[in-house]
Amino acid sequence: MQYRQYGKTGKKISVIGFGGMRFVAENGKYDYDKCAGVVQKANACGVNYFDTAPGYCADNSEQIFGRAFQKMPGQFYVSTKSGALEGAVVREQLERSLKRFNLKKINFFNIWSIKTLADYKERMKKGGSYEAAVQAKKEGLIEHIVFSTHCTGEEIELIVKDDVFEGVTLGYNILNFPFRQKGIKAAYDHGLGVVVMNPLSGGLIPKRAELFEYLKNTDDATPADAALRFLVSQKEITTNICGMGTVAEVLENVKAGEKIKDFPESKKLEIQGKLSIGMDKLCTGCRYCEFCPQEIEVSKHMLAYNQTILESKENYFGQMKWHWDVAPEQADLCTECGVCEEKCTQHINIIERLKEISSWVKERKEAEKGKTV
Ligand code: SF4
Ligand code: SF4
Repeated sequence: MQYRQYGKTGKKISVIGFGGMRFVAENGKYDYDKCAGVVQKANACGVNYFDTAPGYCADNSEQIFGRAFQKMPGQFYVSTKSGALEGAVVREQLERSLKRFNLKKINFFNIWSIKTLADYKERMKKGGSYEAAVQAKKEGLIEHIVFSTHCTGEEIELIVKDDVFEGVTLGYNILNFPFRQKGIKAAYDHGLGVVVMNPLSGGLIPKRAELFEYLKNTDDATPADAALRFLVSQKEITTNICGMGTVAEVLENVKAGEKIKDFPESKKLEIQGKLSIGMDKLCTGCRYCEFCPQEIEVSKHMLAYNQTILESKENYFGQMKWHWDVAPEQADLCTECGVCEEKCTQHINIIERLKEISSWVKERKEAEKGKTV
């Protein structure tokens, strides 16, 4: 495993990190010992960066890590998060995370999911989340205050210039790089550690490998190999958090951090040419948009809409029927309240997409009528 300096913290981090959002539940339950075994295996293979958050895996993830940390084979660093706006709530969450890990300090504490510059200001206000993190750092409960974000490259550039964070966690991958590159560079140039999440576009690349053959260099076995090679070959990126639920996934992912091969510039340009603007707008399935007052299952519609971007709208209908068993007609219920769009980490224009879906549904109904007349 290769290691890189995390910004100015003096810590050396494995280029492959462990993301704790994909532990596997069996019959709706997480076997903590089994899941902890996956974490320990990764650590034994050289992974030393472990990222989680309250709420991951139905709020079991932090506790699974706590179990794993009791017997970790090697040195490790933990990263967790709080998305609360009020300082008092951040403090409560931090203390609960420490208890769950059974640790005295969090190495990397993320001010979680800053979505816009207005949101950033909210986190920085008096009595807000940043202030609480600074206080906890003074008390030795946090080592490094960092932030996670889905902001644009330009917005990230403005945030890092304020010099208040030591690192950033951001979504970046081979499918959206032209749109996020600026944020990576700005953070690196300002001496921040750069942690990449969603390296495989929320699992889309391995899941639909047949669509992404064009990402491969001649010596890449799979599109997922190409996607990881693309990331680990960039010196600006400290670590890449891969969600891992099984030992097989650990063994597969750590290979990418062992022998790092360059990613040819010509290939990068070729891929860039093939990426349409829509590629930056793929739904990653993060489900932050849940809780629609109309009970529209927004993430399912948007994940199925990915198929329209990648293939055709017929595939949207196929996925809604066979994958989700959700009626596309649900899209008609949207009142355009905007709640989901405010929460969307990919800044997807959900309302417009739902309108488009409604119009397809109507077209199909008209076509059906035409056939029966
Ligand atoms: S904009 Fe539409 S889909 Fe989004 S939360 Fe409001 S009603 Fe639901
Ligand atoms: S629509 Fe946005 S918030 Fe919802 S699952 Fe997709 S990327 Fe996440």
